[in-house]
Amino acid sequence: MTEKCGVVGVSLDGRDAARPLYYALYALQHRGQESAGIITHDGFQQHSHVEMGLVGEVFDESDLDVLNGTAGIGHVRYPTAGSVDSSCAQPFSVSFKSGSLGLSHNGNLVNADEIRDELAGVGHAFTSDGDTEVIAHDLARNLLEEDLVRAVKHTMGRIHGSYALTISHDDTVLGVRDPQGNRPLCLGKLEDGYILASESAAIDTLDGDLVRDVRPGELIVLEKDGQGYDSYQLVENDNTAHCFFEHVYFARPDSVIDETLVYEARRNLGRRLWEESGVETDVVMPVPDSGRAFASGYADAASETTADGEMREEDDDGVEFAEGLMKNRYVGRTFIMPTQDERERAVRLKLNPIKSTVEGKTVTLIDDSIVRGTTSTQLVQLLKDCGAAEVHMRIGAPEIVAPCYMGIDMATREELIASDKTVDQIRTAIDAESLAYLSTDSVADVLGKDRIDLCLGCVTGNYPYEIDGEETDRDVTRPELGDQPMYADD
Ligand code: 5GP
Ligand code: MG
Repeated sequence: MTEKCGVVGVSLDGRDAARPLYYALYALQHRGQESAGIITHDGFQQHSHVEMGLVGEVFDESDLDVLNGTAGIGHVRYPTAGSVDSSCAQPFSVSFKSGSLGLSHNGNLVNADEIRDELAGVGHAFTSDGDTEVIAHDLARNLLEEDLVRAVKHTMGRIHGSYALTISHDDTVLGVRDPQGNRPLCLGKLEDGYILASESAAIDTLDGDLVRDVRPGELIVLEKDGQGYDSYQLVENDNTAHCFFEHVYFARPDSVIDETLVYEARRNLGRRLWEESGVETDVVMPVPDSGRAFASGYADAASETTADGEMREEDDDGVEFAEGLMKNRYVGRTFIMPTQDERERAVRLKLNPIKSTVEGKTVTLIDDSIVRGTTSTQLVQLLKDCGAAEVHMRIGAPEIVAPCYMGIDMATREELIASDKTVDQIRTAIDAESLAYLSTDSVADVLGKDRIDLCLGCVTGNYPYEIDGEETDRDVTRPELGDQPMYADD
């Protein structure tokens, strides 16, 4: 099960957390459209509202009114192809002898099954096959014997994989990021409290200030009165494994992730794309919305230098930027469609060319990525049907050759068009005049990171975690579970 989600947690001084959580989830809606939920705690008891659907559909006034308490967490969950299972909706909650726990998880554990088997063996009953429940039970078990900080540390020593978590333990809210910082999580200050969120755009929405990213391996515990927070660096790691795809596709352009504004990163990737593989055409146009920042950076660079890297003459404006494809905003993300036929229909529903901007012209089309190849195949065809003389495709990321096990619901290896094709074979398949991807080294360079500090699993096939049947790109090993002390259930 791969889940790409949005998480949030807030602790306020005297004001109910439900509405700020609701607005924050709205700001994170792009990270998950399948289900939404909020858990709050009023000092005596936990309140929860979790349902399938978009944030705006899941909550109404009366739902928010009964979510009492100044502390709480929230979650939006990404749709996965095929069956939709409400048992995986979050936040996940469990009550046990020493209180109640709520958990919102973004990421994916590699060893969830091993831990589930072990816990089931000592009497834990599981209601879903999700990995979030595994973390919840592991934490609950540790909390019977240990304080909160030690319990989290103990669980972090057992789970292997990617996780950005917001957790509520009664009315205490905490945030945890996995030791390699694969998924984003940041800390913000509000007028009357603190917030933890997947992306800083959620903090902006509440008129707060971004304090900083939660560090890989760090636990942040928000003070109950909203006055501050405590930080515990529970695990140290030599390298990070930040997901580069957050910067390329997933995150909002207006978010700052690991100290980089996503919009700027995308524009700079677009600039580099021009330098690496620019082609002189009449117009350059983005695939909206994901290709927009790339195309604007690309066109900017193209106005300064030629495709050969020479400075432009005064009267040469380079490649004209054009919005040649209009997007229907009411169509959801294409991947919600489980069959290929539906996906093709959805592309057509979603995007429509403006004929006059392409007719008789040579066109460069820019997108952030190619996954199955559905979008590019359809769009090249569409532009040619509208009279484009040539269509050149430029992609702001490297070829996606392998699946994501860390939380992006991408596709299986067989479905990925680049898993068994060369770039020229893909060019033929999508029927473009030319095709070029950005190189992996350029991605790392533009993001200002060493390759070893990024998770590049989907473009290299080598992963920063130990996954059955896959290669690793660094020295990592899964924890040996048997080595950990085991406690009886009570
Ligand atoms: P394709 O049509 O090649 O399967 O997918 C490429 C398109 O999907 C691109 O426009 C890209 O912006 C978008 N995309 C890339 N990764 C993801 C993802 O993980 N989920 C969704 N819904 N779309 C994606
Ligand atoms: Mg797109």
